[in-house]
Amino acid sequence: MSRPLIAGNWKMNLDRQGAVALAGGVADRAAEVADADLVVCPPSVYLDAVASTLRGSAVAVGAQNMHHAAKGPFTGEISPAMVLDLGCRYVILGHSERRHIFGETDEAINRKLLAALAVGLIPIVCVGEQLDQREAGQTGAVIRRQFTGSLAGLSAGQVEQVVLAYEPVWAIGTGQVATPEVAEAVHSDLRKLIQDGYNQHVARAVRILYGGSVKPDNACQLLAQPHIDGALVGGASLQADRFIAMAASAVE
Ligand code: PEP
Repeated sequence: MSRPLIAGNWKMNLDRQGAVALAGGVADRAAEVADADLVVCPPSVYLDAVASTLRGSAVAVGAQNMHHAAKGPFTGEISPAMVLDLGCRYVILGHSERRHIFGETDEAINRKLLAALAVGLIPIVCVGEQLDQREAGQTGAVIRRQFTGSLAGLSAGQVEQVVLAYEPVWAIGTGQVATPEVAEAVHSDLRKLIQDGYNQHVARAVRILYGGSVKPDNACQLLAQPHIDGALVGGASLQADRFIAMAASAVE
């Protein structure tokens, strides 16, 4: 079994003081869940402050997004090297809000993924179907298309460095969590896609997180599923005690 990974996506929330306080609160209790990898992903403008707070702690920092280019005329964007320079180890790519609000395509996510790997960042690549796609029985096809498109051109060695997150769009921020059975079925399909596209070693190495309304009271059942290796958490990651409680479910 791989080491569980619990990542908090703070989205566009908090101010500098709140971000630093939350990071400090998580770091203070990280020793209680030493068998899990913890990552917090603050807004980009607070990455520096949060990374400074967490320096020397067991909690890693991730960005919520980045541009694929190394530098250039891309107003408002941040490059992979900048993300690294700010103290990040991880970067979330292809979050459903990036895909559906900002129009990111699999091709764009693929460029970012290759750029993240090139500088040594660990990408957390999100895939997930919308409600109408699930209701139309298209979940498997959507996941396969996003997986294949986002990871196009990666070697087996590169895929091993990737963390995947299955985040059904209908479950994100809605309180409507996927049942453990529904989530497990997609995770198991993803594992098979990795095995078929690469090999069994890679399929075992890649951690697949579930995301979508994970809370302390449902984390345990989700994280007990054989193919669920952790969680990507939005709302419930904004309080240190709830974040730690979900990590505790992962190491139980
Ligand atoms: C997310 O934004 O990745 C997410 C899963 O949000 P929430 O936990 O709030 O549903």
